[in-house]
Amino acid sequence: MTEIHLTGRAASPGLAIGPVTVLAAAAVESRRVTGDPAQETAALKAAIEGATAELAELVEAEQGDAADILEFQVTMLEDDALAEGAFDAIAAGTAADQAWRSALDAEIAGYRAAEDEYFRARIADLVDIRDRVIARLNGADRSAAIPGGSVVAGDDISPSAFLAADWRRGGAIVLAAGSSSSHVAMLARARGTPMVVGLGPLSWEERPPALALVDGDAGTVIFDPQPETRRLFEQRMNAANDVRAIADAGRAKPALTAGGRRITVLLNIAAPEDLAGVDPAICDGIGLVRTEFLFGASQGLPDEETQYAAYRRILDWAEGRSVTIRTLDAGGDKPIAGLTIDGESNPFLGLRGIRLSLSRPEVFRLQLRALARAAVHGPLKVMLPMVAVPSELDHSAMLLDAEIAALRADGIVCARPPLGIMVEVPAAALRAEDFDAAFYSIGSNDLTQYTMAAARDIGAVADLNDTGNPAVLALIARTVEAGRARGVEVSLCGDAAADTRLTKALLATGLTTLSVSPVAVARLKATIATVSP
Ligand code: PEP
Ligand code: MG
Repeated sequence: MTEIHLTGRAASPGLAIGPVTVLAAAAVESRRVTGDPAQETAALKAAIEGATAELAELVEAEQGDAADILEFQVTMLEDDALAEGAFDAIAAGTAADQAWRSALDAEIAGYRAAEDEYFRARIADLVDIRDRVIARLNGADRSAAIPGGSVVAGDDISPSAFLAADWRRGGAIVLAAGSSSSHVAMLARARGTPMVVGLGPLSWEERPPALALVDGDAGTVIFDPQPETRRLFEQRMNAANDVRAIADAGRAKPALTAGGRRITVLLNIAAPEDLAGVDPAICDGIGLVRTEFLFGASQGLPDEETQYAAYRRILDWAEGRSVTIRTLDAGGDKPIAGLTIDGESNPFLGLRGIRLSLSRPEVFRLQLRALARAAVHGPLKVMLPMVAVPSELDHSAMLLDAEIAALRADGIVCARPPLGIMVEVPAAALRAEDFDAAFYSIGSNDLTQYTMAAARDIGAVADLNDTGNPAVLALIARTVEAGRARGVEVSLCGDAAADTRLTKALLATGLTTLSVSPVAVARLKATIATVSP
C-alpha cells in the first residue's frame, strides 16, 4: 500500500489521526408516487413543514453558532420562493421528490456559480435542506451516524451531519471541495476539530483508505501512512498535546510576557451562549460582542426587551469585568434579511456597519436604548463598527444622548456607556486622533482586507490577506500611538489576535490588549509568555 499525500487549504487547526469514514452521497430512495398533482403538492408541503419543525427542534437543543446556523436553514425553508419552482413542476405532472430535487439543484447551481465566496460557502446548507426534505418525503431515516473519532472524507459535509457526530472523541474533516468560510468550518474551529478543504477529487483505486493523518495547521492529509510516517506524526501530536496541557494550566493566570509586561486578554463572543461553561477567571473582560446574532432570527428584528435581556446576561456573566458590546455590524459578509441592501456590487464597500445603522435610525435607537439600560448592570462600553469619519461617531453620540434623555424622562433607569470605535477602515487608522472616541478596538479582519485590497473570504487572495504585512502593522502602530496620545485604551479584536504566529509582531506595535475567542485563550497566553521583553 502506498501512502497518499494531499494538500488542500487549512480550515480549522490541529492534528488528528483516525480511521477514515467516507461520506456517502445521499441515497436516491424510491417512493410511491401518487400521480395526482394535488396529493404530490400536499406531500411536499407536509415534508417541508416536517423538515422545518425538525430543524426548529434541533435549534432548541443547540447553542451559539450551531443554533444560528440551523436557524439560518429554517429561514431558508420558510422562504416560499425556494419551493415555488417545485410546486410549479408538480402542477405540470412531476412527482414531488423529483420536483423538489430539481428546484434545489437549480438553486445550488446558482450558488455554485456565484462570484461571492459567501454564497458558495452556503451550498452545504442548501444540500442539507434538499436532503432533509427528500428524506421526509421518503420516510427515510437520515441519522446514518459518523463514528466518533473518525476522519470524515467526502466532497462536502452538511451542518446537520457535522452536528450529529460526537467530536469529543477526536476526529477530523477532510474535503475534496468545501470552503474555510462555510458554516461547518466555523463550527469545527469553535469545537477544535481539525479540518482541511479543497483537496481535489478523492478517488481511491480499489477501496477507500483505512487510516488518515490530518494536519489542520498546514492543510495536508496523508492517507494510509507507512508505519514510520505514522510514528513521526504521533510524535508531533504528543508534543502538541504537551504544549496544550501546559497552556491549559496557565489559562486562568494573568498574561505576562517573558519580560513581565502585563497583557490584557479579553474574549470575543458571537452570542451569550458562547460563554456557557467558560470560567470568567480566564479573561480580563469581554472585548467584542458581535450583536448580529440577535438580528438573524426568523421572527424579525429583536425588540428592546430581548436585546436588554441578552446584554444583561453577558454583563452578569462577566462579574464586574468590562464588557464591550458592538452595535449591529450588518452588511458585507453578514447580510440580514429585511435590513441590508440586496444586490450591492461590492457589499464590503457598501452600506454596512455604522453606515447602515445611521441610515436606519429606528433600528439603531432601539439598540442604543437597550444598551443604555443594560449599562446600569456593569462596566459596559459600546463600540461602533466600520467607522470611517468622525461625524459618524458624533452623530451616534447624539442619538445615544437623545435616547438616554428620553429614557430618563420616562423614569426608566439607564446609564451613559463610554462610546468607542472599531478601527477597521484605513482612513480611521490614519487619523485615529481626530475621533472623540472613548477607546479604539482594531478590527484586523477588515483593516487587513481594506489595506491589502484582498477580500477576507476569497481563498485565491488569502496570501495577500495578511495582517502581518508591514503596511497593516504600520496602521496598527499608528492607532496605538493615537490612543497613547489621547490617553485611551487600544485593543485588537480581529482574528489576528488569536494567530500566535503574529503575537510577537502585534505586541511590538505597542498593543497591550488582545481579544480572542474563549478556545484561543490558553494558547495565546502561553505564546505571550515567550515574547520578550
Ligand atoms: C474585524 O473586522 O476584525 C472584526 C473584529 O469584525 P468582524 O470580523 O465582525 O467584521
Ligand atoms: Mg469588521
